[in-house]
Amino acid sequence: MSEVHDVIIVGSGPAGYTAAIYAARANLKPVLFQGMQPGGQLTITTDVENFPGYPKGIMGPEMMEEFKEQAERFGTEIKFEEINEFDFSKRPFTLKSDFGEFKANAVILSTGASARLLGLENESKLMGHGVSACATCDGAFFPDKEVLVIGGGDSAMEEANYLTRFASKVTIVHRREEFRASNIMVDRAKANPKIAWELNKGLDDILAGDDGKVRAVMLKDTKTGEVSELATDGVFIAIGHVPNSHYFKDQLETDENGYVVVNNGTHTSVEGVFACGDLMDHVYRQAITAAGTGCMAAIDAERWLEEQSHAVPAETQA
Ligand code: NAP
Repeated sequence: MSEVHDVIIVGSGPAGYTAAIYAARANLKPVLFQGMQPGGQLTITTDVENFPGYPKGIMGPEMMEEFKEQAERFGTEIKFEEINEFDFSKRPFTLKSDFGEFKANAVILSTGASARLLGLENESKLMGHGVSACATCDGAFFPDKEVLVIGGGDSAMEEANYLTRFASKVTIVHRREEFRASNIMVDRAKANPKIAWELNKGLDDILAGDDGKVRAVMLKDTKTGEVSELATDGVFIAIGHVPNSHYFKDQLETDENGYVVVNNGTHTSVEGVFACGDLMDHVYRQAITAAGTGCMAAIDAERWLEEQSHAVPAETQA
């Protein structure tokens, strides 16, 4: 039988790495699987200005490198693999990647969330040809161009501001007049002379030119239903995220949006499986809260493993 690890951590954002730091320092010799996007969503963001301890801010990718270094310093084994099969039906739990099978007494899930898309046919068809869900990744492809950002949350404001470094004009398209984004982010966008606004507008379609690249969008007024065409070179979708729970959501309790339900800290509906970060938090979704729940998951796992080691084996119970 393959080695049974005390703890396997799946996911490498602030939640996963923090869980690894705590689990490693508790001598649980964690193995952490980084997944398809090592470092998680912070690796596709720019300045992180609100993580305490970095008064001047820090670039997201750099911060995640520091998290990783700290996890490794205490002995976390880090694997650049994606776990794509989970079996939580019996203990030890079995996890599989394309390269092998792994067993663990406790599992900490920190697989995070990914960008949500609108679901328009041309949105996926034109992805990489003028449509993007990541300004940090693709903004530099739009020097002196006009682009749109869809959404009214902090992501939309942040992406719009960032895109003004390259684009000549950035138009925020939002389906309402009120914003989910924090006031400071809205104020910053409003103060940016390169940012224009199309409020009470939904994205109805994205049109391509003869070159196969985005040339315009159809916007639908959410109050009057009127549809109008607006020329643009690029469309950045920034309408939130969906949790990455698809590989195991049939084995754990999740809510209607796929977020893993946790009780009593980070305990999931399966004993010995813990969840942290954006995978279970659809409310705060910040690097600092993800790190906080990662810490909780490691402590919960450590205490649970400790309880198991003192548990009376079933066959000796009266
Ligand atoms: P969000 O807060 O959930 O906002 C999503 C936005 O997209 C909302 O304005 C929503 O409109 C709109 N939207 C959703 N589905 C839509 C659809 N089908 N069609 C059109 N519009 C749609 O997501 P987020 O902006 O990604 O932020 C997520 C979390 O990360 C938040 O907690 C945020 O504070 C945090 N964050 C923080 C920072 C920072 O502090 N620097 C930066 C980025 C993100 P409605 O409002 O009408 O629902």
